[in-house]
Amino acid sequence: MRITFKDVAGIEEAEQELVEIVDFLKNPEKYQRLGGTIPKGVLLVGPPGTGKTLLAKAVAGEAEVPFFSMSGSEFIEMVVGVGASRVRELFSNAKKEAPAIIFVDELDAIGRRRGGNVNFGGSDEREQTLNQILVEMDGFDSRNAVIVLAATNRPDVLDPALLRPGRCDRRVTVQRPDRVGRKAILDVHTRGVPLDPNLSLETIAEATPGLVGADLRNLVNEAALLAARRERPFVTQVDFFDAMEKIILGAARQLVLNEEDRRRVAYHEAGHAILGLLVPDADPVHKVTIVPRGQALGVTYSVPADDRFNYTERYLRGRIVGALGGRAAEEIVFNVVTTGAENDLKQVMEIARQMVTKWGMSKEVGLLYLSRDDGEDYLGSSGGGVSRDFGEELTATVDKETRRIIDESYQDAIQVLTQERHRLDALAEALLERESLDEPEILQVVGLPAKERSRPALVQASATAAPHGLPPQTSADPR
Ligand code: ADP
Ligand code: MG
Ligand code: ZN
Repeated sequence: MRITFKDVAGIEEAEQELVEIVDFLKNPEKYQRLGGTIPKGVLLVGPPGTGKTLLAKAVAGEAEVPFFSMSGSEFIEMVVGVGASRVRELFSNAKKEAPAIIFVDELDAIGRRRGGNVNFGGSDEREQTLNQILVEMDGFDSRNAVIVLAATNRPDVLDPALLRPGRCDRRVTVQRPDRVGRKAILDVHTRGVPLDPNLSLETIAEATPGLVGADLRNLVNEAALLAARRERPFVTQVDFFDAMEKIILGAARQLVLNEEDRRRVAYHEAGHAILGLLVPDADPVHKVTIVPRGQALGVTYSVPADDRFNYTERYLRGRIVGALGGRAAEEIVFNVVTTGAENDLKQVMEIARQMVTKWGMSKEVGLLYLSRDDGEDYLGSSGGGVSRDFGEELTATVDKETRRIIDESYQDAIQVLTQERHRLDALAEALLERESLDEPEILQVVGLPAKERSRPALVQASATAAPHGLPPQTSADPR
């Protein structure tokens, strides 16, 4: 079946940039008549699953030209020389059928920067394959109307030779879809799926920040399978949310905790949830559960009200306070410290560190940008390591400021939870009794109004709907 732009959704900007390529392929003469050169190589850059391969196929489909493809990873284990001849063959076939598309997936697997002092055309298979690609790209001229589309999620490691003019000199960025984009992608993948008339794909799109096209397709599929197992005539919202939990957290586990551990997990999760509800600007809490799943003993889901690209200091503080809520609740209630907060502390450290080193949110450090530029720019990512080039004193200040932010936040968490102890107890008890509570149930149990939802979101793509969990190697989980 021919794939076209109708099958691609939610990545309009990238699609728009490729419309021109389609036109080149359809009417090469139109462009050549005036002496213009058709681009030879376009690099599609974006995280896995955002639809790069799909987009390349859609370009071929729209232009109704043949699609030749190879993947960088195929060449890793090949016998020396085979890669290069495979490349030659591919280009030669494509030229015969021109206009045509050659798609090189995972370009970084072969196209990595070549080692400095290795002799040119080195013995290594990867390098020979890369050289052959360069030779082929230089060898055909744009009259051939063969366009190379290459995909990667690591443009930073590519050999600069690949990016020179006349090679992959155009770059199209494929972004993670925003809320509107996710809705559009869900529309595409639910075309043939009978849906409950009450189901709102908008809501699903809202609850899935961070997910990319491939994840969303997977989500639709899992939801449909669940609905079938439940012998429903159509797929419902519940099926979608259950599928989402399963995908994000792994299937529910049969794990029997003793009463004391259950209580501790219940209070831990209740601590997160209460703070999520009470701290201004924290993300709204969608669900709390103490059913162990995957790696987690308990989970508090909070989903950002919208995808965002820009965070206020208040929001970040709110997130830190919320993440410390589990530990704070354990300390207040049991006066015992467990290892159950490992994940939380990791997340907290990452956020606080970045506040200090990247975002100018510490007066002492000021507006210095101290982070290594490792391409990581999402919250919850591993960014934020301080480069040691900045000297010991500054490094010590960064450590001190990071600690200050975390300590202050922890005090806030303790204070709010102590003050709201009755709500904490009520929620923990309800969890022990019912195991999972969704948003309306939580609000009812703790006696709080729903949180104001519309916050000025400053555009798109952001932290994943970080579910948060207790790792199993905790004293709260002796197995
Ligand atoms: P990538 O090449 O960027 O890793 P793929 O194109 O292989 O991503 O995506 C895998 C599958 O996920 C696609 O075949 C398609 O079914 C679905 N998908 C990914 N992105 C999108 C999108 N933007 N619109 C519709 N479906 C998508
Ligand atoms: Mg792909
Ligand atoms: Zn926790």
